[in-house]
Amino acid sequence: MSMPVKEPVLAGGFTRRGACPALSAPMKTGDGLLVRLNPVAGGLSPDALTGLCEAALAHGNGIIEVTARGSIQIRGLSEHSAVPFAEAVTELGIAVHTGVPVQTGVLAGLDPTEVTDPTRLVESLRTAIAGAGLEGRLGPKVSVVVDGGGRTALDEVAADVRLTAVSGGWRVAIAGHAQTARPLAVAGSDDLARDRAITLLSGIAEMGRRARGRDLNDEELGAEPSSAEYGSRPSAPRTLIGNFDLRDGRLALGIGLPFGQTFADVLKTFCEAAISLGIEDIGPAPGRSLVAICESVKQMQELRERARMLGFITGADDPRCAISACPGAPDCASGHIEARKMATAIAREYRHLFDGSLHMHLSGCAKGCAHPAPSDITLVGTEGGMALVLNGTARDEAVAFADHDGAGRAFASMAALLAAQRKPREPTAQVLARIEPAEILEAFRKHGS
Ligand code: SF4
Repeated sequence: MSMPVKEPVLAGGFTRRGACPALSAPMKTGDGLLVRLNPVAGGLSPDALTGLCEAALAHGNGIIEVTARGSIQIRGLSEHSAVPFAEAVTELGIAVHTGVPVQTGVLAGLDPTEVTDPTRLVESLRTAIAGAGLEGRLGPKVSVVVDGGGRTALDEVAADVRLTAVSGGWRVAIAGHAQTARPLAVAGSDDLARDRAITLLSGIAEMGRRARGRDLNDEELGAEPSSAEYGSRPSAPRTLIGNFDLRDGRLALGIGLPFGQTFADVLKTFCEAAISLGIEDIGPAPGRSLVAICESVKQMQELRERARMLGFITGADDPRCAISACPGAPDCASGHIEARKMATAIAREYRHLFDGSLHMHLSGCAKGCAHPAPSDITLVGTEGGMALVLNGTARDEAVAFADHDGAGRAFASMAALLAAQRKPREPTAQVLARIEPAEILEAFRKHGS
């Protein structure tokens, strides 16, 4: 048996950073208190979403985000406004998940390309978690993903326990996203998958509220010796941006929030357009997107055009899809650079770099909130300016630095080198991998101060 993991000590009335900021326990951030919502119904009516925007304007700073996991975040609340905001959400009839997150695709049961409809398993797992008394015994960050396959955009959503539909049942895996979670077995039915998940969650709960799936030892995991029969399926798309046919003849329209953020008045205008078109369901989705369920092609096309005019991302080839950026300065007190403003400029001026092969991360500081995983290029704000990390995360060692005044010139110089070295039709990521690192660093450094 693993050793119990020490319990956290929470100071003050609000949640520490790193815990999950649910409606009743907002989290302190650089721009006030943040609340994260996971609507029970998945999607919301445009009327409810309009009301949420109005509450965000009245009680917060008007910034609304959809996270990489597909949660809605309201920013800039205060200790005085958090309670009336929570009351407004309740009055809107928006029920939110408050227990252990059991996440599935926003198109679950509707997507004709999914391997298995996961909705029954999700409900049975939520009931079993409550029945086993696990709600209060697991830490706030412990989560489960039930990925039925198809267009879920769940591959990059990390979870303590992952159940993935494969031929022959559900692949049970522990701790990680689709690529990194350790497979343990294939459960041949919904009930077997649920029972295995409950066993794993109970093992985590026994170690205390700081414990995570990665803390379970081999004996507790009960891994089967061979990985040959764990099953496989194609990777899910990274986002749900675009339009998709649904099983029942309707269509889904996915739009992206640039760098996961929009403003309440902009989202409210989008919701009003949806209402005028007769759309009844808009849901937050993984990959910082929103998915609207449309009755007809005409309805979908009109809503997509309104979204485009409001600055939302309407095509998966938009370069902003390939860039992650946190709020940075001045919205976050820890930010040294205006990460989202810089990301917007880079997406506009260096569109040619973003051919689908490259991922870039602009981070206000070394915490790297917007993208904990490695990126091809990461630019990190520092006290003195900006650091460059290649093939790593914001926390990794930088290979070159530019001061605040030279940061724009440094990036332009590196981009010019990539463009000059590129062979016809060569993907940008391949060019980056092929050029001698010393040459890239020199290009960045020589104009960086
Ligand atoms: S990474 Fe960005 S959002 Fe996170 S603490 Fe640093 S500046 Fe703030």
